[in-house]
Amino acid sequence: MKPIPFNKPFIIGHELEYIADAVAQGHLSGDGGYTRLCHRWFEEKLGAHRALLAHSCTAALEMAAILCDIRHGDEVILPSYTFVSTANAFVLRGAVPVFVDIRPDTLNLDESLIEAAITPRTRAIVPVHYAGVPCEMERIMAIAQQHGLLVVEDAAQALLSTYKGRALGNIGHFGCLSFHETKNIISGEGGALLVNDERFAQRAEIIREKGTNRSQFFRGEVDKYTWVDIGSSYLPGELVSAFLYAQLEHAGEITAKRCHICTAYAAQLAPLQQAGKLRLPRLDGDSNGHMFYIILESLEARTKLIAHLKAQSILPVFHYVPLHSSPAGRKYGRCGSAMKVTDDLSERLLRLPLYYEMGDSDIERICGAIYKFFARGL
Ligand SMILES: *Cc1c(COP(=O)(O)O)cnc(C)c1O
Repeated sequence: MKPIPFNKPFIIGHELEYIADAVAQGHLSGDGGYTRLCHRWFEEKLGAHRALLAHSCTAALEMAAILCDIRHGDEVILPSYTFVSTANAFVLRGAVPVFVDIRPDTLNLDESLIEAAITPRTRAIVPVHYAGVPCEMERIMAIAQQHGLLVVEDAAQALLSTYKGRALGNIGHFGCLSFHETKNIISGEGGALLVNDERFAQRAEIIREKGTNRSQFFRGEVDKYTWVDIGSSYLPGELVSAFLYAQLEHAGEITAKRCHICTAYAAQLAPLQQAGKLRLPRLDGDSNGHMFYIILESLEARTKLIAHLKAQSILPVFHYVPLHSSPAGRKYGRCGSAMKVTDDLSERLLRLPLYYEMGDSDIERICGAIYKFFARGL
């Protein structure tokens, strides 16, 4: 049987032509024509005051942590059910990640638990839009404003999702996007920092350019190019930007296809949810079809279903080991709430294959195999 992988990187338009064109233009380092086209795309489509490509979402989160002016011993509130970079970016600045539990319906940071986790050392809240489904941003922004905190949206999975009509990544002070090959729009590795609060735009450029005022110099705003702040090299080269721009030209199509796949999965698996065998994700019209997961009854059921699907060359994968129970999470962070939902759901969640080139017949085969598993009984 033809294997169905969990993810498959794809080409959709002019990726290779644009790479060839970048080579022909003779500018392969960062901030050339394709990077500028990408910046403009994010500023126009998402409404960011300033968009800056980075070599990953991890890099964008690191830039955001520097811009938040995080100092040793400061605290940052974030979910435990997330990718390591959400926490690492702040730990690198000396911060203590304070983990808060997630909501059972969206698996996003539970906004009702945030205030109890705030201390005089708290500097920022980092909501993660899991599976591209929006966090309760209105409440989170109100809490942040009331306590004088900054908000960094980890929107790695959330490009082109919206919350009450606004693009995710464009609501907090900063938004961080990923174009890793497992995300919706890809460039292999890649990311972007959205600076939504203009007060931070100039410093963001400097931090991204090794702590120099190179960007201002090239715009003719200053007459010397020199070292002015801390920073690192966070910008991608033009080959990556050229690939990314070709994908962005088809962003609507890619999102629509992924949403179609999610809807098809949900329709086919709905009877199993009605029978109480599994739980399906909440699919609202605001999300970008980044992920389709199912929640099984127990860890044991998940382990057996994975084995059953693998035997049929279908590759599902589970997700994060909660950061609060990881070795580094225990060393550098602490819990700001009980972790009941995180501990429970992380053991039972299973992500099903989802990639642009998937066909309806693949979805039918996967759902058929899941039905067979439940018909056979545990
Ligand atoms: C993928 C992901 C990241 C990291 O993105 P990279 O571009 O691989 O650095 C960070 N946070 C979340 C929630 C992610 O899903």
